[in-house]
Amino acid sequence: MATYVGVDIGGTKIACGLVSLVEGSVPVVSAVEKVPTDAQLGGKHVLATVLEQVKAAIERSQEKPLGVGISSAGVVDPATGDITFANELMPGWGGTHLGAEVTAATGLPCNVLNDVHAHALGEARWGGGKGLPSVLVVAVGTGIGGAYVEDGAIMLGSHNEAGHIGHVACIAAAGVPCSCGATGHLEPVAAGPGIIAEYIRQGGDATLPDGTPMHGAEIDRRAAAGDEAAKAAERRAGLALGEVLGSMCNMFDPAAIILSGSVVKCGPDWSEALGQGFLGQAMPPVQDTPLVDGTLGDDAPLIGAVENLVVSAYREYR
Ligand SMILES: [Zn+2]
Repeated sequence: MATYVGVDIGGTKIACGLVSLVEGSVPVVSAVEKVPTDAQLGGKHVLATVLEQVKAAIERSQEKPLGVGISSAGVVDPATGDITFANELMPGWGGTHLGAEVTAATGLPCNVLNDVHAHALGEARWGGGKGLPSVLVVAVGTGIGGAYVEDGAIMLGSHNEAGHIGHVACIAAAGVPCSCGATGHLEPVAAGPGIIAEYIRQGGDATLPDGTPMHGAEIDRRAAAGDEAAKAAERRAGLALGEVLGSMCNMFDPAAIILSGSVVKCGPDWSEALGQGFLGQAMPPVQDTPLVDGTLGDDAPLIGAVENLVVSAYREYR
């Protein structure tokens, strides 16, 4: 059994564990430890934490790991392992030579992928897309990200930026400002915060009886109980996402669309609107494209990062 270290670097936490490959079946993730990223302390601090966590994971492993696969927030150049850009949520993370630093500290080969791409590769290869030749993976939570994966290869694009499905034009978002600076994008309508904002705009409560802010799970519960504002907010988000997914099927014609993230757990108001939006835009030959749930949860980026390392090594060897 070949064992690797898998790392997932997010804006709030860093998860690091062991990923063991088992011939023909889903890689086994074990001994995962999570620590705060403390991104506000700067890129150097984050790098030091990552190196510390990787070394600790190597110590926890019963056999010597063969390499380190990393999934990281920010724009990543998978060819070099560099973080080429990170937004203001991770100051100083852009410019980090992450892959080279990890190899220098451990002596192990290291590959780095953007976190959305790593998540998508994991789901495509071993999760909801296992056995399928192509998939579009879409994660809908506080933001919306995605990736198109064909024959085990992620479409990275010429700036390693491909897959920003949250930042495509969407009819329901006309005039709505987006986190990227544009207006009219899918994300502010269909991601979790957009659903909460619409619920409040429709007259729903901004806070729970105990004073904590309204959250998506409560809106979903209220929609199921018949609350009209909650139903309307979920329907608007589901319809908008469905329309964009239908459009994407016309473009890429994947064998399936894999949906993951907190928002896709929403109930029938959301999912029926999603299906309606999808069929409204998808051309007849792609209307039967299955929309399936992701199956790997938090393990997806760790598995995808290690899968990327193993496949890259294989390609170099050939
Ligand atoms: Zn945008």
